[in-house]
Amino acid sequence: MNDLNLKELHNPDIPVPEEMQSNVAITSLSSLYNWSRAHSVWPMLFGLACCAIEMIATAASRYDLARFGMEVMRASPRQADLMIVSGTVTKKMVVPIVRLYNQMPEPKYVLAMGACASGGGPFKEGYNVVSGIDKYLPVDVYVPGCPPTPQALLYGIISLHKKIEKQNLAVSASVPWYGAGPNEAVPVPVLGPDIIDPRHAELFRREAMKNRPTPLVAEAVAEATGQSAEAGGHKE
Ligand code: SF4
Repeated sequence: MNDLNLKELHNPDIPVPEEMQSNVAITSLSSLYNWSRAHSVWPMLFGLACCAIEMIATAASRYDLARFGMEVMRASPRQADLMIVSGTVTKKMVVPIVRLYNQMPEPKYVLAMGACASGGGPFKEGYNVVSGIDKYLPVDVYVPGCPPTPQALLYGIISLHKKIEKQNLAVSASVPWYGAGPNEAVPVPVLGPDIIDPRHAELFRREAMKNRPTPLVAEAVAEATGQSAEAGGHKE
């Protein structure tokens, strides 16, 4: 496969011999590869909140995910290539979600189902909820709604199929995982008094230093509270 020039396979100027034209249904390796991937996506089996009920309904007989080759929901991230984030992402839950994402093999996709997963929903800016999973993971498809109906989720899944089918093995920007070594893990957020994304740690440190009270202010605070400035924890 490596010896093939994939760009040539996609060249529409290369004529298909006449005797083959009536038989050739698939015109390139990329199309074959993407067609098979798109129609055998295995979602990871987990749900977060009310949206998960609609996801379960989508997998049941009435809406029948099996039509899309997706009936095999996997209980292990090692065997899944689609993460459907179905529900409210709390600050406590985002840590295992990112860990699970890192354990999925490439190529992998993320579908944010519903208002909560897409942007925090009714709980946006709540003390315990993150404002969308896309702050931490790359999201491929957003499905709006609170909750989205099974039909809306199916539309999102079909949109994902289209996205997969458009990926071109000859263009590395569209398939950064193809032929690459082990992929880089997404930094796992740190749960403390507030959730911290390690990618922004330096920014937080700078802001914290900026807002640190000057010795003069520290003394005034200590005087007002009746503690020594040193005991108040403002010592350099
Ligand atoms: S978007 Fe609505 S239905 Fe879905 S998890 Fe949030 S509150 Fe529940």
